[in-house]
Amino acid sequence: MIESAKCRLCLLFLFAVFLFFAAAPLQASARSLLFETETEQGFLCLRSYSRSFTEGDAFMLQLQSPPFRSASARFNGRVYEFVRVSEETGSFLFFPLELGMDEGRHELLLTIVFPDKSVIEKRLDVTVARGDFPSVSLVVDPKFTAPAPEEMKRIERERKRVAEIYEKPHRVWLGSGDFIMPLEGGGGVSGPFGVKRIFNNEVYSRHRGVDLRSPPGSPVRSANSGIVALTDSLFFAGRTVIIDHGAELFTLYCHLAEITVTEGEWVERGDVIGKVGATGRVTGPHLHWGVKIAAVEVDPLSILGLPFE
Ligand SMILES: [Zn+2]
Repeated sequence: MIESAKCRLCLLFLFAVFLFFAAAPLQASARSLLFETETEQGFLCLRSYSRSFTEGDAFMLQLQSPPFRSASARFNGRVYEFVRVSEETGSFLFFPLELGMDEGRHELLLTIVFPDKSVIEKRLDVTVARGDFPSVSLVVDPKFTAPAPEEMKRIERERKRVAEIYEKPHRVWLGSGDFIMPLEGGGGVSGPFGVKRIFNNEVYSRHRGVDLRSPPGSPVRSANSGIVALTDSLFFAGRTVIIDHGAELFTLYCHLAEITVTEGEWVERGDVIGKVGATGRVTGPHLHWGVKIAAVEVDPLSILGLPFE
């Protein structure tokens, strides 16, 4: 009797391990419940939110759980840490699906360590789809396709300065509520994310933001609350503002005619930060709006539907 009771316990234990280790596929839908379970520490629930799992998009995991020592996820060769937001929202983190990443199945390993050092692990499957991005030819001032040696030095200086900003994000969440379009009325997309561009028939690049149509001088608003991380006039991006929203998520606003905020300033969602212009490498006035997650560019339109409260 004792032996068979032990066996039953063994089977129960194996079943519990299977439950936590069986890979669950993430569905490409606005919201999907991945799992919920009662643990020794309390109730635990994981949801995913996404527009799609196409390269160039972002997706989000939201975790409701008892207090933990750490909660992280390994995905695409990198470890991401959950950021605790509030009692109701719980914790969340964002993942970028980098342009050009392999299509097909990618493993996401979730690890939660509780204060008593007990650990829960869960394996999830993320199936990444190849995007369909058109090519366009653009004509710009020749200095942008064949920069002079002193301009090359400036470009390198600016590249390093901007890269350093993305290396020092605020780890806490600074945003408040959902993201909004930075132009009143949305603007309308004149240049989608991911487009393959050939400038002056000689320089190839990917478009790593969205271009929003707008008359010059229109006010540009911060897409969420955060801290102004950079205000500068850059060679390619023109007058630019970068805002740190915490949790490794930054937004950037380029080609501005005028900047109306200063570095280090706190901005609320919807605050005016500058005016639409045509500075830097452009073919006409518009707003280039970008989003970086963990230093990877994603389509800003893919974060608009994610829930942040
Ligand atoms: Zn652009």
